[in-house]
Amino acid sequence: MEKIDEGIYKLKINLPFRWTPELNIYIITGDEITLIDTGMGDPNSFRAISDALKGIRLELTDINKIINTHEHVEHFAGDENIKKASGANVSAHKKAANIIQNFNNYVSELFNTIKEAEIEPRMRAVAEGYLSFQAAISSTNVEKPLKEGDVVDLGSVILKAIHTPGHAPGHICLYDEERKILFSGDQVIGTGTPFVGYGITDMIVDRVANKLGMKKVEHGNMTDYLNSLERLLSLDMKIILPSHGPIITEPYKKIREDMERKLLREQMILKALESGEDTLDGLTRKAYGSYQLDYLLKGSTMAYIDRLLALGKIEKVERENQNYYKLR
Ligand SMILES: [Zn+2]
Repeated sequence: MEKIDEGIYKLKINLPFRWTPELNIYIITGDEITLIDTGMGDPNSFRAISDALKGIRLELTDINKIINTHEHVEHFAGDENIKKASGANVSAHKKAANIIQNFNNYVSELFNTIKEAEIEPRMRAVAEGYLSFQAAISSTNVEKPLKEGDVVDLGSVILKAIHTPGHAPGHICLYDEERKILFSGDQVIGTGTPFVGYGITDMIVDRVANKLGMKKVEHGNMTDYLNSLERLLSLDMKIILPSHGPIITEPYKKIREDMERKLLREQMILKALESGEDTLDGLTRKAYGSYQLDYLLKGSTMAYIDRLLALGKIEKVERENQNYYKLR
């Protein structure tokens, strides 16, 4: 564990994912002992949190509060175990709270949707594999839902919730104005930029929602993500403490680089359209030059397509159940 500032510690734990192998949990030891995010809730991360607390002469039972930066599993799956050990209360943005509190129902509803959806077998297999993994995660009651601007007073540390949708609809960053520190969750990560787009189940729901008469789920949104980055630029920051990767010591430079990186990919998609590519597959192949992690890449291309449609830069034509895109 690393001490960042008086009463602020960073604990790095392992995650079972290839693309994000580690998560940073922040421990704040104000009058209220607080965790920002909790990991997957597996025995190893539970022990890592307990050992880290012992290292600063605290116990799991001392934790008063958990704040989840957003509704992705590696950020909240550990809540329930820690809550059982400590009686801590949980805070998250109200949109994230909706998912976190109803997670088990949410997963089983998705299972049913996929069962009924007409999709290729490989897509079904990938989606079901992912949902089986998620089915083991406990829902958690969120006692204190947050909204934009809410202040969480932890005694020696005061955090302001900044709603930063884009990577996830219910994403918040937590800003310590006095120390000029931003806990950025996945909005700004130590290396590279976060995934912004449709997860595999979002892609399936998007395809079948109209047919099955269900409402579409909110997913990653590129314009929201870029707007959220823009908002962060107006804060007075010395360092950014991200949920993944190293601490960011040049906040403004990093945020501008992140914006450029996403906009560069958008340019590549526009170029691909110019060269005559007109399908999701073709655009994804051209823009990323690879088909590894293909559903993830396609999901990201879909977020660019949504943005370009909303900006009026492209149009969509539907022919024989297939979408085609072209420049306007
Ligand atoms: Zn995330």
